[in-house]
Amino acid sequence: MVEGAGPVGLTLATDLAQRGVQVLMAEIRDFAQPPNVKCNHVSERRM
Ligand SMILES: Cc1cc2nc3c(=O)[nH]c(=O)nc-3n(C[C@H](O)[C@H](O)[C@H](O)COP(=O)(O)OP(=O)(O)OC[C@H]3O[C@@H](n4cnc5c(N)ncnc54)[C@H](O)[C@@H]3O)c2cc1C
Repeated sequence: MVEGAGPVGLTLATDLAQRGVQVLMAEIRDFAQPPNVKCNHVSERRM
């Protein structure tokens, strides 16, 4: 189980699924509620 559908959780879940691992995601936000925007750019260094 992966908790939290932020960048880290979604990347982990996608990576595991691509390797054939069944993934269950848990997210505390309500269905279809968007996350609070915390990013206006993604720098090369952060990546
Ligand atoms: C004000 C601000 C500005 C920023 N600006 C930038 C920027 O310009 N560029 C940049 O690259 N980065 C920026 N960052 C950093 C970036 O937002 C974080 O590095 C990134 O969001 C971290 O991803 P994460 O998946 O670890 O956590 P988060 O994005 O916080 O995702 C965590 C998820 O887990 C969920 N969750 C929490 N508790 C539970 C629970 N108990 N059960 C299930 N789900 C749960 C939350 O709802 C959320 O969806 C900024 C951060 C802040 C605070």
